[in-house]
Amino acid sequence: MSRRAVNFIPAIAVFVVVAAGLALALFRPDRIDDDQQYDIMNTVATLNPVTTRAKPEALHNGLRNAVAALRKVEAHMSSHLDRSEIANLNSAPAGEFVPLSADVRAVMVMARHIAEASDGAFDATVGPVIGLWVAAGKAKQLPTDEQIATAAAVCGWDKFELRDDGAVKSIDGARVNLGGIAKGYGIDKAIEALRKAGCVGGMVDVGGDVRVFGQRRLDGPWVVGVRNPFGPGLIGTVTLQDGSVCTSGNYERNFTIAGRRYSHIIDPRTSRPTDTNPSVTVIAPTAMVADAWATALSVLGWPGHTLLPAGVEAMVVTSSPQAYEIHMTEGFGERFRFNPPFGPTENAP
Ligand code: ADP
Ligand code: MG
Repeated sequence: MSRRAVNFIPAIAVFVVVAAGLALALFRPDRIDDDQQYDIMNTVATLNPVTTRAKPEALHNGLRNAVAALRKVEAHMSSHLDRSEIANLNSAPAGEFVPLSADVRAVMVMARHIAEASDGAFDATVGPVIGLWVAAGKAKQLPTDEQIATAAAVCGWDKFELRDDGAVKSIDGARVNLGGIAKGYGIDKAIEALRKAGCVGGMVDVGGDVRVFGQRRLDGPWVVGVRNPFGPGLIGTVTLQDGSVCTSGNYERNFTIAGRRYSHIIDPRTSRPTDTNPSVTVIAPTAMVADAWATALSVLGWPGHTLLPAGVEAMVVTSSPQAYEIHMTEGFGERFRFNPPFGPTENAP
């Protein structure tokens, strides 16, 4: 009897150890991740790659290559950096061929395409007008109608001829500004770098413009916060598995002249800053498309949603903090959740 009991105890112990091991193997997440922040493109970039325990090196390699991809896009496309390809194109005289890398060409081709699709609301050739308003913001003095007309006269895609390996301007003073699309392209390139490094999932967030893919460390889809345009906190969250969420808001980057606030987004129809849409958020398969359409709808407002291509969804917050309206496409609504106090209960028609 006692011999039996003695044998029985180790049997239980073995069972317990095996069961615990099994439970650990089952419930210990197979995925690991990292979360790092960098100063890129005049803002904070947060990268969150995910890999399996079998491939831990994908985190380090993914981060390194994704950051390099973002910095490369910044170096090629910034109009502020003196030796960027875009700076070269902008300072070139009419008729001079300016060689461009495949990256810059790809973004210019997409920018030209979205200019057409958005009825000219997204127009990367408004560089001369942007330059005028940036200077006005610094000098704290509004430009004259004449200055605006002069700048507007050298805007438009008809002033640029895109060739296979570069571009030529047809008029002196024409300038491209990729500020409304290059960040998205950089995010796409960073996501590509994470995939190539072997990551099974990841998130790239550059100043609130986000793209996600694949798996999180813990199960479930990615959840992306959309900032409240009127104050601190979030207006809500977007849930998605693969794709991008970009927001254009005039609450973040703007300037003041004589007590009035002006957006950094130009309405190409008037060559003046837009002022009616505090925040536009767009969901699209790629960050390049989401970024550009967020800027386009900042110009067009809610009526512009009819121009959105298939697979692109939007939310437009219009008007002022006192009397704002929130519009969203059906597909956006399916993925969006309001954070209190925002939402249908407070804003029911
Ligand atoms: P951010 O996300 O950095 O706030 P946006 O995506 O909203 O920027 O794009 C705004 C930037 O796009 C401006 O700073 C300017 O460089 C450029 N831009 C301004 N107006 C237009 C326009 N109508 N079309 C294309 N680009 C524009
Ligand atoms: Mg944009």
